Amino acid sequence: MNRNTAIDFYALGTKNSIRAYGSGGSGALRAACRRVRAIDRAMSAFRPGSDVWRLNESAGCGPVRLGTETIDVLARAQEYAALTGGAFDCTVRPLTRLWGIGGECERVPSVREISDTLPNAGYKGLAVNRDNLTAELARKGMAVDLGGIAKGYAADEIKRLLAEAGILSAIINLGGNIVAMGRRGDGRPWRIGVQDPLALTGKPLAVLEVEDRTVVTSGSYERFFIRDGVRYHHIIDPRTGSPAASGLLSVTVVGASSIDADALTTALFVLGRDKGLELLRMLNADAVFISEDSELTVTDGLRGTIVKCSDKEA
Ligand code: ADP
Ligand code: MG
Repeated sequence: MNRNTAIDFYALGTKNSIRAYGSGGSGALRAACRRVRAIDRAMSAFRPGSDVWRLNESAGCGPVRLGTETIDVLARAQEYAALTGGAFDCTVRPLTRLWGIGGECERVPSVREISDTLPNAGYKGLAVNRDNLTAELARKGMAVDLGGIAKGYAADEIKRLLAEAGILSAIINLGGNIVAMGRRGDGRPWRIGVQDPLALTGKPLAVLEVEDRTVVTSGSYERFFIRDGVRYHHIIDPRTGSPAASGLLSVTVVGASSIDADALTTALFVLGRDKGLELLRMLNADAVFISEDSELTVTDGLRGTIVKCSDKEA
């Protein structure tokens, strides 16, 4: 009897899928899908009435009471902002809005527009109070965008729900934010490809063999637009107000918690390889970097986990 179950759905601005193997019911998958949709309803910056939308509407007007989950994710975002010196910064929304990232009309703003908008970003202007469940943006014009962390939170939530339903083996994929639960049905580790950002074929540059791990990638090739032959992508360097130009095509973090990995990949993409490696050493975390010349850099903790599909090595 085939007891595998699968669900595909759209939420959080991306395509998502859950595949569960062996045992467990489709009810758990449907519940997981509902959960992700609820997270989207609370945390989308684009949805009128969402927590994040209300917070942004109230910028400069004092604290706003929000749902526990949104407060938790905002608090985690702030931890990562402090930890990465602001490379991860969920208050980049005025800048992502200026560039039209996330659905609006994408365009290249003028230098003047960017320098005028930069003062409206900055995580120090966001206060999160976990005790009374409020958050506050200090100045009018400020706004939050949880696009760099919400998928990781949602993936962790799905894992929790599936585990509670007794599912031991599953692949959760929220727009490239992957959680590999347990092992494959044949008892072997899951094999997750690290995509070659330049290959049109989808052929991976390397394969990660993992068990009970999350694998999260941030890449400039995922969401971008081209104007006058220049490629502009969706990860903003909060210091410059423009798409990060750190010499990377992608960063993949392998870890235990998807929310941590999600925030970290975005930050590493902004910081670049060398500063990124320093941060990873400090956090005792692991990642694979792919540079613009397709050079692969792998942290020591992933030796034995990664199988390279090409000869290129750092
Ligand atoms: P993806 O959404 O492709 O998985 P990321 O996790 O790196 O990639 O998130 C990128 C999204 O995060 C952007 O679309 C934007 O909403 C938001 N963002 C952009 N730059 C930053 C930044 N420096 N810090 C935090 N969030 C960011
Ligand atoms: Mg991220």
